[in-house]
Amino acid sequence: MEKVKNSVQELMELDKKYFLHPTSPIKQQQDQGPSFIFTEGKGVMLTDILGNTVIDGMSSLWNVNVGHGREELGKVAMEQMSKLAFSSCFATYSNEPAIRLAAKLAEIAPGNLNATFFTSGGSEANDTAYKLARHYWILKGQPNRKKIISRTKSYHGVAMGSTNATGLKPFREFTNAFDPDFCYADHFSSEDLRRVIEAEGPETIAAFIAEPVQGAGGLHVAPDDYFKEVKSICNEYGILLITDEVITGFGRTGKYFGIEHYGVVPDMMCFAKGITSGYAQLGGVMLSETIHQDYMELSTGTLLHGYTYSGHPMACAVALKNIELIEEEGLIANAEKMGAEMHKGFQWIEGERKIIGKVKGLGLMGGLELVKDRNTNEKFQNPVAPLVVTEAAKRGLICRSVVFDGQDTVVFAPPLIISKEEMAKMIDILHDAIAAVEAEVLQ
Ligand code: PMP
Repeated sequence: MEKVKNSVQELMELDKKYFLHPTSPIKQQQDQGPSFIFTEGKGVMLTDILGNTVIDGMSSLWNVNVGHGREELGKVAMEQMSKLAFSSCFATYSNEPAIRLAAKLAEIAPGNLNATFFTSGGSEANDTAYKLARHYWILKGQPNRKKIISRTKSYHGVAMGSTNATGLKPFREFTNAFDPDFCYADHFSSEDLRRVIEAEGPETIAAFIAEPVQGAGGLHVAPDDYFKEVKSICNEYGILLITDEVITGFGRTGKYFGIEHYGVVPDMMCFAKGITSGYAQLGGVMLSETIHQDYMELSTGTLLHGYTYSGHPMACAVALKNIELIEEEGLIANAEKMGAEMHKGFQWIEGERKIIGKVKGLGLMGGLELVKDRNTNEKFQNPVAPLVVTEAAKRGLICRSVVFDGQDTVVFAPPLIISKEEMAKMIDILHDAIAAVEAEVLQ
C-alpha cells in the first residue's frame, strides 16, 4: 500500500509539472493536481489508481457510447494495427476499413447523405465542413458566400474555425477569436436566423451550422419545428445547412442521428466521438448526394484539404466494429428506453428537491437547471452546479457542470449500455448530491 501511495504521489507531481490539461482550471490543477487518475474501465464504471470506482455519467466526454472495457474493439484495433497500422489516403491511395466505413455511413445516415471526408475528431470535422462549404460556393461561381452562421450557446470545437463558430463567448474571448466571417443567431429562434441572414446579406452566407441538441452549451433541445423552419429558410436563401452531430450521433439521443427527431436532412453532417466510442480518434463530414455530385462535376483541380490521419485504417476498423456493436446489441433502442428512465428519475428529484428549475433532455442526454427560487426562476449568485458535480463525485458519480452565459446546469450522458439498475443508482447518488448542496446553499 505504501508503494502504491508513493507512485500516486509521484504521478500527481509529474502531472502538475509536465501535463497541460485540455479545457481545465489552470490554477486549481496546479494547486491540487488531478482529482482522478483513471486506470481501468468496465461498462459504465471507471476505476482510479487508488481503487475508487465511479459511474461514468458523462460517457467520459459524451463519447464512450458502447461503454468501457470492450475487448472486441481492442482486438480489432490490434489486428488492424498488426496488419496495416497506417497508410495514406491522400491522392488516389486508399484502404479497406476506410472504404467500408464510408459505405456503412452512407447506409445509416439520414436521407441522401452519402459521401464522407474523414478527420481525427469533431473540431477538424467542423472546420472541414466550413472549408468545403466555402469551396463549394467558389466552384458554384459565388465566392462571396464565405460567412458561417452558428447559434448562441453552441459549441463546435477548438480549431480556429470551430472556435469562431462556437457561440459560447468565453471560448472565443480566450484567443480573441472574432472573425467577422462568423455570425450568430439565437439558438431557439428560426426567425432570428432570418434576421441575421438579412442583416449580413444573404449573398455573403455560405452555411448555417447547428447541433440537433446543444450539449456543452447547457443541454438545449431545439423546439419541435425549429429544424424544419431553419431548413426552409436555408433553402429560401440558398444557404447550406450543416448539422453538428459530434455528440448526438451514433445513438446518443435514441435515434441513430439527432436530426432524425426533426425529420430534416442537412446538406452536410459532422460527426466524431460516438463513431468509435472513444476507442480511437475519428471524426468526419458527410455530404449529401447533391453537394457531392456538384463537387464531382465542378472540381477540376485538387481538393486542397486533408489530414495525415484522414481515413486512418485502425480508427476506421474500430469504428466499423463499434457500429456493429451498437446495432447488434440494440443500443439505440436502449438509449431511448434508458433516456426515458433517466428523465423519470430527474422528475422524481425535481419533486424531492427545491433547487431544480428545469429538467431537460433527449434520449441519453440530460440536464438539470439549478435555481435559488423555482417560483421566480431566480438564479444563485454563484453557480451551484459545480458544487453538485463535486458532491456527486464524492459519492461515486461523474457528471459535468455548465456555467457559461449565466447558466447553472448539471449535464449527463451515460453510456448507451446502461442498465435500469445502474440508472437507478445514478439517480440515487445524484439526488443525495443535490440534497447535500441544497442544505448548504439554502440555509
Ligand atoms: N462539436 C460538438 C457539438 C462537440 O460537443 C464537440 C466536443 N465536445 C466538438 C464539436 C469538438 O470535437 P473534438 O473535441 O473531438 O474536436
